[in-house]
Amino acid sequence: MNRVFNFGAGPAAIPLEVLQEAQEHLVDFHGEGLSIMEASHRSKMYDEVHNEALGLIRELYKVPEDYDILFLQGGASTQFAMVPMNIALGGKVEYADTGSWSSKAIKEAKILGLDPVIVASSKESGYDRIPENITFSDDADYAYITSNNTIYGTQYKTYPSTKAPLVVDASSDIFSYPVDWSKVDLLFAGAQKNAGPSGVTIVIIKKALQSRVKDSVPSMLRYTTHAEKDSLYNTPPTFAIYILSLIMKWIKGKGGIEAIQKSNEEKATLLYDAIDNSNGFYVGHAQKDSRSLMNVSFNIKDKDAELEAKLVALATQKGMIGLKGHRSIGGLRASIYNAMTKEGVEALVDLMQTFAKENS
Ligand SMILES: *Cc1c(COP(=O)(O)O)cnc(C)c1O
Repeated sequence: MNRVFNFGAGPAAIPLEVLQEAQEHLVDFHGEGLSIMEASHRSKMYDEVHNEALGLIRELYKVPEDYDILFLQGGASTQFAMVPMNIALGGKVEYADTGSWSSKAIKEAKILGLDPVIVASSKESGYDRIPENITFSDDADYAYITSNNTIYGTQYKTYPSTKAPLVVDASSDIFSYPVDWSKVDLLFAGAQKNAGPSGVTIVIIKKALQSRVKDSVPSMLRYTTHAEKDSLYNTPPTFAIYILSLIMKWIKGKGGIEAIQKSNEEKATLLYDAIDNSNGFYVGHAQKDSRSLMNVSFNIKDKDAELEAKLVALATQKGMIGLKGHRSIGGLRASIYNAMTKEGVEALVDLMQTFAKENS
């Protein structure tokens, strides 16, 4: 077996133990004589997997009972539209613009005929930070943030306190730290960065918020449709949910989300120290107090594209892939989600240090 260290931003690394368990049970699921992929979504065999995934999310992410956990499709991008379709009331909808994903969410609200208010933006400084003192109106229909900005490598250290319902796009940092649910009314994430394979979108929504959903919203696009049927209104992405259940078990085995957070902090510290101690050879994109623990975006001094490409190529040779920065900002990006091992980060730091010495 020759596994690379996968620093790709998404779909991203999945723990080896999870892949191996799925492999072991792929053809004959625990003696059932068929794969979980082939089982009816109405079967007892699938039902157990579905409920285990839901139960483990509630347990490990400490989701209070007055929230529903939904498994939807269409990716986080569909949530950009579902949020306004379901919970806008005709008043103000407010957004913090911290990067491309927030901008895309704002665009969808406009398509739906709303006039989204951008209460804060870090666009002017190349999205290198989370704006300070973001203030949402108390009477907004909702307040919208992107907790981790996958491309720019910035992340909220705490969510803003709002009177208006807070909506969080946590696509790239779900399950990486404990969430203060007293602040959040709706949190969503495509699973393929930190929670499993592509194909399932996790939505965690306060029950009370669902009273806003209007009959004019098509059935499949209503949160209530899926909440009422435990995400079994139609065929859910069964295999993706199965892998998600294994990932939740893996998190539990690691000691839960607090333990995962600690490990994430250690990994990120190794990488940011390597940048900070490089005598300016490496330059981080994010301002220090906005640095993401999930995506470390950086350049080589003077944005030397040739040296950057050389480092990416060398890393690939050494079994470290996915380090090319997003096409919109260039440079390099190391995505170090929950499943990235410390060993992987150490290998990268090692390479970065040698590379800096040889090319300074
Ligand atoms: C990747 C990403 C998305 C888009 O997710 P899809 O599932 O591909 O639609 C949205 N928001 C953030 C923060 C992301 O990182």
